[in-house]
Amino acid sequence: MIQFTCDLCGIPINPETSRRFVVKLEIYAIESSLEMVPLENSTDPLELMEKIIESAEDDIAEELPKNKTERFDLCCNCHTKFKSDPLGRKMNRKIQFSSN
Ligand SMILES: [Zn+2]
Repeated sequence: MIQFTCDLCGIPINPETSRRFVVKLEIYAIESSLEMVPLENSTDPLELMEKIIESAEDDIAEELPKNKTERFDLCCNCHTKFKSDPLGRKMNRKIQFSSN
């Protein structure tokens, strides 16, 4: 049987007796290359559009950062905490945290 462990509190999660929650986080940079294309020295709007499209395609092929996807297993308690504070903002403000 596959044994799961909560990635937050570290307790073992038995799928037969308790609920297991999976959190998937996807982190990626937003591309704004279209705004960065230089517009100088062009008189022909069609030519300009071609340049913009070519430039955007180049950027996508060469410079698009890799998406980062993370997956976490959470127990029922940690799932409840995560739902109410996904970015840990409340947690950072708390200095004291009871560790059972
Ligand atoms: Zn937990």
